[in-house]
Amino acid sequence: MTENWLVVEDAFHLKKLHHSETVFTLGNGYLGTRGAFEEKFPGEMRATFLHGMFDDVPVVFTELANAPDWLEMEIILDGERFTLDQGELLSFNRTLNMKTATLKRELRWKSPRGQITHLVFERFASLANEHLCAVRATITPENFSGRVEVRAGINGEMDNLSFKHWNWLDQGSRGQEAWLRCRTRATKIELAVAVNLSMAVAEQKSRVTRWDVHNHPTLVAFTEVKSGETATAVKWITQYTSRDVKDPLKSSRSALRKNAWRDWAEVWDEHCRAWKSEWERCDVVIEGDEEAQLAVRFNLFQLLIAAPRHDEHVNLGAKTLSGYGYRGHSFWDTEIFMLPFFTYVRPEIARLLLSYRWHNLNGAKAKAAANKFCGAQYPWESAATGEEVTPTWVPDPNDRTKLIRIWTGDIEIHISADVAYGIWQYWRATGDESFLLERGAEVILETARFWSSRFEWNDELQRFEISDVVGPDEYHDHVDNNVYTNAFARWNLLTALELKDWLERDHPAKWRKINRRVHLTSKELKQWQFDIDHIYLPFDSQTRLVEQFEGYFQRRDVNLAEQEPRTESMQSILGIEGVNETQVLKQPDVLMLMYLMPDLYDFETVKANYAYYTARTDHTFGSSLGPSIQAIMACRMDDPAAYEHFMRAARADLFDVRNNAGDGIHGASAGGLWQAVVFGFAGLERTADGWKTNPHLPEGWKCISFKIVDQGKELGFEVKGNS
Ligand code: BGC
Ligand code: BGC
Repeated sequence: MTENWLVVEDAFHLKKLHHSETVFTLGNGYLGTRGAFEEKFPGEMRATFLHGMFDDVPVVFTELANAPDWLEMEIILDGERFTLDQGELLSFNRTLNMKTATLKRELRWKSPRGQITHLVFERFASLANEHLCAVRATITPENFSGRVEVRAGINGEMDNLSFKHWNWLDQGSRGQEAWLRCRTRATKIELAVAVNLSMAVAEQKSRVTRWDVHNHPTLVAFTEVKSGETATAVKWITQYTSRDVKDPLKSSRSALRKNAWRDWAEVWDEHCRAWKSEWERCDVVIEGDEEAQLAVRFNLFQLLIAAPRHDEHVNLGAKTLSGYGYRGHSFWDTEIFMLPFFTYVRPEIARLLLSYRWHNLNGAKAKAAANKFCGAQYPWESAATGEEVTPTWVPDPNDRTKLIRIWTGDIEIHISADVAYGIWQYWRATGDESFLLERGAEVILETARFWSSRFEWNDELQRFEISDVVGPDEYHDHVDNNVYTNAFARWNLLTALELKDWLERDHPAKWRKINRRVHLTSKELKQWQFDIDHIYLPFDSQTRLVEQFEGYFQRRDVNLAEQEPRTESMQSILGIEGVNETQVLKQPDVLMLMYLMPDLYDFETVKANYAYYTARTDHTFGSSLGPSIQAIMACRMDDPAAYEHFMRAARADLFDVRNNAGDGIHGASAGGLWQAVVFGFAGLERTADGWKTNPHLPEGWKCISFKIVDQGKELGFEVKGNS
């Protein structure tokens, strides 16, 4: 195993403030907290997001509410407030240790009066007890003696970029403890946070007092510290919501009492043990490429800190729990990009994520009904209920006084089949029959039913078509017969029929039970077969090219190489309308389809399409979802560019390739990266004779090792390269 677990920042870069906050996010599957400093800093985007805590912004949308700040710790050194925007920073180091999921910041600060202090901050969000977080500061005056004061509380005055989601309910304090109760305004979900603060110099305990500031109960510890002595302040935080328990305050305070008297080392040890067992299952070891190794771990870490462990009513947001981007909403990013990692490595988590879709089936049925279709139409963007939450209008990033109409919520419909695909893949990998019978089957059947009602009959050409959609490549909207969408719809119907036959044969009683909910008739089933036989899948047998949508080949061809060097997306350069008129792609639909459905096209066809679409994709500034899949297809085509595509995905957040990492982690890119290592470079493939690898290791890679779980059995792989 390589010991390459540290993400290090060895200087403070003001320009990278928001990017670094994203990179240094911590989480434990219950909450995610951006890597803001303990003390305030001007312009920061301090945020904590708890799974499922959605609230409305009146009329327009729903978003995860930025929760009261548990992190804060203000330090007063002999009368001067410690802050990085004043005085002088003599040294600075921030290290995320991914093995222990602990963030540490160590620095020496010279105050405006010239007093030097050595400070170390550590924090973790316990994986062993998801309701527990901790912050520790050690404070050593170097050239002065004086009073050290630590103020630590819970700040309820948090907002989402100036919108306030919380109503204050109640607060209090006693001894070394303070607490706050609040509730989201519209959705009325209650949150209770309790904190305990202690400080000591050597064994000598400091005094702690309480400030009952409204909506910001604060504990204050203070003591005299001599030059060279160290004061250690420890803050424990517990939180529960009314989504978890009846009485969140009672649970938070009781959890606090159980933990606050314990040693830091003991609680931290439990947390580290939980991470050890997580990594034993999930780690991917790459020998021969330190950068790739670190980046892969970083991306897996992001998935692991965001994924729920106990909650089947929540999902992974496109930006995980690490930023405001996409407001905490979930997309197809879950099923197609992130889910495979969980399905093959942590199936327990995959089951939770898919159960969320099942719980939200009613929302999806309501969407279908509202559009006058049958079955279940999953929302393009999904939050608490499964209703569509895609904003209809968003401000134009180039001119915020203008609005842009967003069509994805109306017509990017492939998501319904993507959800079904995620369920089927999970079932095939795990053999989890109870999930399929009790939950998954219904989703597959209801989404199939949606497609059947969505198809449009073209009498002249005697075929079914789907007009007016957005495919995965969002540079083109309002297109007809997007092949990704049509092929996935067909797959959904085929799979539903296969599933129904199997259920009827092997589980007749269960099938009757399922069908009491779904009410499938033999007429409908016959229709499905007819749909499958007549859905239009464009293909030119001469060129072997699969046209992404009807008329795509007639659009203007742009030589992307001639646009280099470029620092922005082709959409920014040509405009939304402009890029729509060209063949430039945000992400390569057709290649994604060929990756996800490898049996649909023969090798020569894939090759022709790979060449055609690769040249027309905006790899660097188009969609962050593209590069990992592009890397896999490059491996299959023996194209050495695989590594370049892979590294583009690997660096997406660590290097802020798209200048938007401050909005949060690109979760789909992170999940795609795991697929690129396992299904691309290692070439893992399930065949009739079991699992096989077909290595395409990049130059210098000596070995890739990883584990997967197949039908409940753990399998380890070591795939060697040539060098
Ligand atoms: C991509 C979508 C993706 C969404 C959320 C968009 O930019 O085009 O495919 O689902 O971001 O990550
Ligand atoms: C994305 C869409 C999304 C929309 C609104 C766009 O940037 O590409 O997938 O639905 O934003 O959130």
